[in-house]
Amino acid sequence: MKTPNTKCAYCDTPIYRYPYQLRSQVRAYCSRACMSRHYCTPVYVRLLQNIDYVSSPDGCWLWKGPILKTGYGRICSKRKNFSTHRVSYEYHHGIIPFGMNVLHKCDVRHCVNPKHLFLGTHQDNMDDCVAKGRTTHGRNHPNARLTEGDIRAIRELSASMSQKQLAAQFGVHFTTVGQILRGQTWTHVK
Ligand SMILES: [Zn+2]
Ligand SMILES: [Zn+2]
Repeated sequence: MKTPNTKCAYCDTPIYRYPYQLRSQVRAYCSRACMSRHYCTPVYVRLLQNIDYVSSPDGCWLWKGPILKTGYGRICSKRKNFSTHRVSYEYHHGIIPFGMNVLHKCDVRHCVNPKHLFLGTHQDNMDDCVAKGRTTHGRNHPNARLTEGDIRAIRELSASMSQKQLAAQFGVHFTTVGQILRGQTWTHVK
């Protein structure tokens, strides 16, 4: 261990850096956690100013600012948008490895409580969705007009009615009916 010649830019812990590293404009940090804290602090402070700590019974920290269509909170920093749960995760647990997602234990997408956040892959997120029944197929899809019952009815009625008649009755386009009857959509309905 060499004698420290500089200080961590976040926590002031004495650390050693090679002379060429000291000449560069890049600040030195004692750890990855300190680095991410230093970068996240200004945006994290704004994040903390806009949280509702009390309304959730599960201890969720609910973001009161803008919320995306996907349900995740959005915060702006240096003209870029960031997801609030990711900012919170990075502040508390360090940088998110490339390609990893931050998932919620509590299923509240605009919750930023670090205790409710954990790392996972995209596949984990999908598995989690399926397990908790919030996938976007079937009538959970935001654009769905039909229900599972409608699909069964359409399949039964298709013996006696044309696709255009069915489309008119259920208020959808006839290509939608065609796709249902050919088994291209709503495949999960038996
Ligand atoms: Zn440090
Ligand atoms: Zn939560």
